[in-house]
Amino acid sequence: MAEKNWTKSPWAIGLGTAVFSFCLSVIYDLVKDKPLLSSIWSIIKWAGELIWKILNFNVKLWWIILFVILVIIVLYIIDSAKPKIKENSLSETYKEDRIKGLRWSWEWEYSTFNQSWILSDLKAHCPKCDTPMIAQSSYGLYLDCPRCDFKDHTRPEDELDKVQRIIIDNVNRRKNKNNP
Ligand SMILES: [Zn+2]
Repeated sequence: MAEKNWTKSPWAIGLGTAVFSFCLSVIYDLVKDKPLLSSIWSIIKWAGELIWKILNFNVKLWWIILFVILVIIVLYIIDSAKPKIKENSLSETYKEDRIKGLRWSWEWEYSTFNQSWILSDLKAHCPKCDTPMIAQSSYGLYLDCPRCDFKDHTRPEDELDKVQRIIIDNVNRRKNKNNP
């Protein structure tokens, strides 16, 4: 018992303080005539006293247990705030569709900033060979197939935005159908 709590025993604290003060005065005598050394010394002294106070600080076990429990609760709340069911139904079932005469594919990404799922990596697939096409926009959306050189220059500039809006609308319609 006494050995475990030696940092709390008055003897240890008294002895520690005495030895510490003795060391302080010895070093102080050595450096007192040198201004730079004495200012460095006062910083060391201050840090030493601070460390001694921290070492003697009475940390209760229940503070640590309470802290750990609080961290677990906070992590749990953050984790359950993410719409997991939505993620599963989106990411596993709806990642491609035929829209405006083409096959489109995409991924879902959770945006912590927007607190919602967002579409990413939306690609139009070539109607001849199904390769994801390169989309370039200049006075319209131009789709080029890198494999078979199929070109589609008939699309309006905001075609990607429109397709994205249709996909999100499809998701909402599905949701309404599943949860009437
Ligand atoms: Zn192609």
